[in-house]
Amino acid sequence: MKDLICLRCGTPLRCAGREKLQLGQTGWILGSLPKLLSGALEVDIYICPMCGKLEFYLPAEEFAEESIPQRKCPVCRRSHDFDAPLCPFCKHKYYAR
Ligand SMILES: [Zn+2]
Ligand SMILES: [Zn+2]
Repeated sequence: MKDLICLRCGTPLRCAGREKLQLGQTGWILGSLPKLLSGALEVDIYICPMCGKLEFYLPAEEFAEESIPQRKCPVCRRSHDFDAPLCPFCKHKYYAR
């Protein structure tokens, strides 16, 4: 569990558990995130006991997995982390001069 603080009043948020959101019905909450176009999404829900603000967080492990953009190696055509200086599969170097 995270240690989160309400942005409005500074009170520690209380975790209300993990819920599955049906996307499509909840686009107003997370609609701007490109990964959330279809299917169900698991989120951790946090509530501020002082002002009643609700916060939704992607579970940390899922977020870490999806937050790194991928790129396709032009040599071996496998995808890997975008910020890798060389392809982890075939060792193709992107920045070599
Ligand atoms: Zn608050
Ligand atoms: Zn490669």
